[in-house]
Amino acid sequence: MKKIKTDFLIVGSGLYGCVLAERIANKLKKKVTIIEKRNHIGGNCYSEIDKLTGIEFHKYGSHIFHTSNKNVWNYLKKFTSLNNYKHQVLSKYKSKIYQMPINLKTINQFYDKNFNSLEAENFIKNKTKKFRKKNPKNFEEKALMQIGQDLYKAFIKNYTEKQWGKNPKKLPSSIFNRLPLRFNDNKTYFKNALIEGIPLNGYTEIFKKLTSNPLINVIYKKNFNLRQKNIVNNYIIYTGPLDKLLGYKFGKLEWRSVKFKKKIINKKNFQDNSVVNYPEKKYKFTRIHEPRHLHEERKYKNKTLIIKEYPQLNNDEPYYPVNNIKNRLIHSKYRKYLSNNYKNIIIGGRLADYAYYDMDMTIAAALNKFNYIKKNIK
Ligand code: UDP
Repeated sequence: MKKIKTDFLIVGSGLYGCVLAERIANKLKKKVTIIEKRNHIGGNCYSEIDKLTGIEFHKYGSHIFHTSNKNVWNYLKKFTSLNNYKHQVLSKYKSKIYQMPINLKTINQFYDKNFNSLEAENFIKNKTKKFRKKNPKNFEEKALMQIGQDLYKAFIKNYTEKQWGKNPKKLPSSIFNRLPLRFNDNKTYFKNALIEGIPLNGYTEIFKKLTSNPLINVIYKKNFNLRQKNIVNNYIIYTGPLDKLLGYKFGKLEWRSVKFKKKIINKKNFQDNSVVNYPEKKYKFTRIHEPRHLHEERKYKNKTLIIKEYPQLNNDEPYYPVNNIKNRLIHSKYRKYLSNNYKNIIIGGRLADYAYYDMDMTIAAALNKFNYIKKNIK
């Protein structure tokens, strides 16, 4: 194989890698080679058109762009516009449909009440009194002190066990913090989204634009290892899992993965919503996606596509870091080892940082890293 000469070798073509590639090529005018093990760009942010229905879907689960970070949006808007989609989730429990995250309507429907906001708040306060703690140690403690036992058992406990394959007492409380609890009728999913929507022309167009500078070369179906000799470069930006990179020398990092099963339904609409959660154990899947609802501005045919999401263990397709103390310790050993032994390797992104980043956090982290590169690397 002939030698590839590049200034920066970027391993992985997800958001983190492609944002850095764009910055380095356009601002520093350096040559960038991205190597990607899959046959497409975009990491798990990849969207494509289903051939039979014409519906655009997110191959690795619904990705809804949302941010409260103006810098991130000022950057991303150069590469896409967003449609008017605002994320709302429903949860199906004992054949009834509830709003999720839990809000006033969920509480009234679940307890068959007619509370106003204050009454609902006092009612839940009463339910959570015996669980209150200064420092909740894990997911379950945090959930119980926020919403009490009944709502926890119905909507959260089993969903979480299916999603993570673990007892919620063994999970960090930070995961529960992702879900807001509301005593009003607000039914939007994300806590503080100033900007929210789905890229008008899908995610893949963003990646094509990010990597459009001729200084950037993307090579597909190519794995990376530290002994690779055919690439001569000054710096490596590695965005994959660190345990794999270093031959698992400090043990395996735990990841949660997901599998998707697609089905076409011969009618215009299946569930009225882009995502419905299924918290009960009798369903092996956690949620059903119906991607036509992500693009209400498009004219689709009278067919719809549904995608069931099945969580599972699979370290070859890592999605979610299991961010407990044990794994954080392993991760920090890998990080220290890398920075002590490989001065020319820069790491980042959801997989390399072993962090539950949303897309906007990934972009923010890449822009920060670019500032570091600009100052410290010539
Ligand atoms: N969760 C739950 N029930 C739900 C929705 C979420 O128990 O109906 C819990 C679950 O543990 C999940 C976490 O809240 O992993 C965070 O949910 P989020 O929707 O942010 O997860 P993601 O979309 O990133 O998979």
